[in-house]
Amino acid sequence: MSSFYHVLVGDSRLVARPRGRFKIRSQDVLAGDRVTVCIAEDGMGYIDSVEERRNCLVRPPVANIDQACVVFTYRDPPLVPELIDRILVHTGVVGVSPLLVLNKADLMSAEEVDTVLEMYSHLSCPLFVTSAVVGTGVDVLRAQLAAKTSVMVGQSGVGKSRLLNALVPGAGRSTQEVSRKVRRGRHTTRHVELISISDGFIADTPGFSLLEPVKVSPWELSAFFEEIHAVEHSCRFTDCLHRDEPGCAVKDAVRDGRIPVSRYENYLTMLSEAETESRRY
Ligand code: GDP
Ligand code: ZN
Repeated sequence: MSSFYHVLVGDSRLVARPRGRFKIRSQDVLAGDRVTVCIAEDGMGYIDSVEERRNCLVRPPVANIDQACVVFTYRDPPLVPELIDRILVHTGVVGVSPLLVLNKADLMSAEEVDTVLEMYSHLSCPLFVTSAVVGTGVDVLRAQLAAKTSVMVGQSGVGKSRLLNALVPGAGRSTQEVSRKVRRGRHTTRHVELISISDGFIADTPGFSLLEPVKVSPWELSAFFEEIHAVEHSCRFTDCLHRDEPGCAVKDAVRDGRIPVSRYENYLTMLSEAETESRRY
């Protein structure tokens, strides 16, 4: 990990490194951290302290994130609703607001776009339709990034890098560039940089932070499925997990179509995982 950081002080950037004397180590500082710096006589900045983080992601390693653009596609790669539900739970657990971004709209018919929008219209998170290639929806998405710290997450190949470049021309380093370095066998732990965009910031490194399972207790999981959460207070049992229990308001809502079956099934899958995970401790 790089031990030099660019710290934004007012409008200028200062090169700074963590100060050993204060026991601040490189691994203690992430992009997005708020820090106090002290400027030495030689002009070098020293990071003396790191403020407590509101949240942070592992991939990309960024702290104090306001929102995550959850980029997905309908085809190429094909839409995997389970993956989106997992990302939505993950953002909920971490405390980052999600935005759903349906990219590669140029590969879809208007009817297909409507079908996908319909799938997620009952959720409170905003939905954007973009084409990083044609430029559709890019300005609208950029406006949503104003004055916030954002990251892009999503499956490989959905167009995160290309979208980032459409949002901030010249921003993202190409995937090719990375793989070239990797092939040469160099260890390139790329540092993350926050790029200025519309008075806010966006991480230059897209992420996919689902390689490790989210730690959430079986009883907390439903809180991250908002349409389940909205009705669960009506379940007969207060500790209802909405699986086999009698008098379950969630199952009623699935039966009469208020909760989409696929969302409920993905909830059940993640519930089993959360149970397995919680037994390990
Ligand atoms: P990432 O892995 O999510 O960063 O995806 P990339 O940005 O590397 O894009 C993967 C491939 O999809 C590349 O060949 C892009 O040119 C292509 N791509 C990205 N966005 C779009 C889009 O909106 N429409 C189309 N047709 N192709 C796109
Ligand atoms: Zn229930």
